[in-house]
Amino acid sequence: MGQIELKGVTKRFGEVEVIPPLDLKIDEGEFVVFVGPSGCGKSTLLRLIAGLEDVSGGVIEIDGTEATTLPPAKRRLAMVFQSYALYPHMSVKKNIAFPLKMAKTDPKVIEEKVANAASILNLTDYLDRRPGQLSGGQRQRVAIGRAIVREPAAFLFDEPLSNLDAALRVNMRLEISELHQSLGTTMIYVTHDQVEAMTMADKIVVLQAGRIEQVGSPLELYRAPRNRFVAGFIGSPK
Ligand code: ADP
Ligand code: MG
Repeated sequence: MGQIELKGVTKRFGEVEVIPPLDLKIDEGEFVVFVGPSGCGKSTLLRLIAGLEDVSGGVIEIDGTEATTLPPAKRRLAMVFQSYALYPHMSVKKNIAFPLKMAKTDPKVIEEKVANAASILNLTDYLDRRPGQLSGGQRQRVAIGRAIVREPAAFLFDEPLSNLDAALRVNMRLEISELHQSLGTTMIYVTHDQVEAMTMADKIVVLQAGRIEQVGSPLELYRAPRNRFVAGFIGSPK
């Protein structure tokens, strides 16, 4: 589960082609990082995969099934938003339970799944607090908890750490990597931060102006960048 394939996917906003035809295969359980400068199309690509934007052309397959026109809720993918997307007036417990409540899940099942997510994320003692009473890192974990309870085929992160301070970013990076190790679920992680890409990824997708410049492991990109742009971005000595 969690295999995602893009075949000739394009995206236009009006006259502007933001994503020219693009092919990409993401394997089950991989931690894939989309990296590239601001405006290169990382968020658009993630939103196309999530179904939050419609493709202008091409096909998206999730676990071998065409998903190109499926609404987000039917894709079994969970987008992790930045922590400020939490509901400030709701407890941690209610924030995490929210997607299950929306799906009219049985209250007993909700209770179990929230407890399980809280335990994975070390939030068990904070379930009755409100987001405003938590640290930045804890808030980010609540946002992740909201994705975990949906038991998605893949987690999609769009620069989840960009509003945290530097020390906290390092911690959360490790926590997300550990979460990936323990869940084994596919993760697609968008960042403009080379260090995040190099330290977290199984596979890095380097984007420039909506095009894939190179795909490879951190070591492959470092050792054999295909061009100056990749070399410059990855910080390798080419
Ligand atoms: P990134 O996440 O890499 O910073 P984005 O995917 O947000 O880049 O944006 C890629 C390009 O698409 C940018 O030029 C941006 O201005 C444009 N864009 C993104 N969303 C829209 C939209 N809803 N309407 C028009 N242009 C958009
Ligand atoms: Mg973006």
